[in-house]
Amino acid sequence: MSERLPQLWPMMRRVERSALTTLSQCLKLLGLTELPLPVPVEAWVESPLGLRFGVCDLSHLGPTVLGVARPKEREILVSETIAGQESRFRFTIAHELGHIVLHAKIQPEFRELAEGDYLAERFEREADRFAASLLMPLDAFGREFTASCSDLGLQANTVLHAIQNGDETGLRLFRSRIVQRLSRRFGVSLSAATYRFADIQLDNGLPALTVRQARSLITPSPSTPDSRQPR
Ligand SMILES: [Zn+2]
Repeated sequence: MSERLPQLWPMMRRVERSALTTLSQCLKLLGLTELPLPVPVEAWVESPLGLRFGVCDLSHLGPTVLGVARPKEREILVSETIAGQESRFRFTIAHELGHIVLHAKIQPEFRELAEGDYLAERFEREADRFAASLLMPLDAFGREFTASCSDLGLQANTVLHAIQNGDETGLRLFRSRIVQRLSRRFGVSLSAATYRFADIQLDNGLPALTVRQARSLITPSPSTPDSRQPR
């Protein structure tokens, strides 16, 4: 990554823009000039965004339903089963908000399942991307990444090249220090923070990480699965 702000892949620009517009609306309505991090999505869906938001038992909708978005009712429900998993909880809310902002005209209800091949669907990929964009706006993400490299006495570019080349020291630092810090700063899981690098296009036209590289950097933990799956 260059030290200037990262570029975006064209395909998802519309989705990224919608997430940024949503954040700008919130800041304006709240009279804030700076984006608080982690983005307080749990609070903002109710105020200032004015949605109905509930954390409840969704088992009547199916045993693996984690979240529901109902665009017409402007309602988001999240399963109480993930209320204690902060990063997953936040990502699910942001994903449902994505359906409300992006897909109001598509269908009356969207449901998130704990497992399933729904990610093959365009709307699910878009809602995931919206969530990533809302919780990890690229400007802030690039800045925090550069700062965390700098604190280790490294240049962001050097770290990215080391990772792309499979350099062991670089990989270890990236996983143990940099992604950890980004995950805490943005209130997202380690895997969501890692996958965000696949959304960044470098000056040479290549992604900061390919999805495959991002996947190989993540050690999945069965007890804390992530909302965001490989795309
Ligand atoms: Zn969805």
